[in-house]
Amino acid sequence: MVSKRYFGDHSLMIGRFQPLHNGHLEVIRKCAAESENLTIGIGSAQYSHECDNPFTAGERYLMIDEVMKDEGITNYCIVPIEDLNRYSLWVSQVVSLSPPFSIVYSNNPLTRRLFSEAGFEIRDSPLYNREMYSGTVVRNMMVNGDEWRPLVPKKVAEVIDYIDGVKRLRDISGGE
Ligand code: ATP
Ligand code: MG
Repeated sequence: MVSKRYFGDHSLMIGRFQPLHNGHLEVIRKCAAESENLTIGIGSAQYSHECDNPFTAGERYLMIDEVMKDEGITNYCIVPIEDLNRYSLWVSQVVSLSPPFSIVYSNNPLTRRLFSEAGFEIRDSPLYNREMYSGTVVRNMMVNGDEWRPLVPKKVAEVIDYIDGVKRLRDISGGE
């Protein structure tokens, strides 16, 4: 367990960021403002080129990094985290990959349970306009040719255009 004396205001939030949307950005703004340093964990880092996980960890890293620069947020770091599919070991996996932290922002019951059992302070992570600001909604809009750009930060749309991400998602979503 990390010493609160040294890392009391260092915090962690985890998402898959497939892709990063305006809801994620609101949370990141709030957490970064409240923390000395915010670690942003890219969950399910090993997956890409799947309907639910179209973007690589590196592409998601670039999306987050570009948005943080655009926002003028500097007290953060980004850590890709692969799934272990073994919940009892997952907190150790996250701890081993991240700079020290003592606070976890999450509203996911399992994440909250696992980190609280390991002695971390859990803080609520409010949901913003969840009906629209959701990775699933953004991906569905991309596949259906709907206007997804207003749901994500401008820099995310630029990265997705740069990697031709909508075409990729449509290709892998097509029936055989
Ligand atoms: P998907 O539909 O692909 O699962 P998602 O929108 O649920 O995407 P994830 O990448 O799974 O987002 O990340 C989940 C994390 O992001 C959670 O901690 C969740 O609280 C936060 N989050 C997701 N959507 C919002 C939102 N609209 N407002 C605030 N936080 C959000
Ligand atoms: Mg989700």
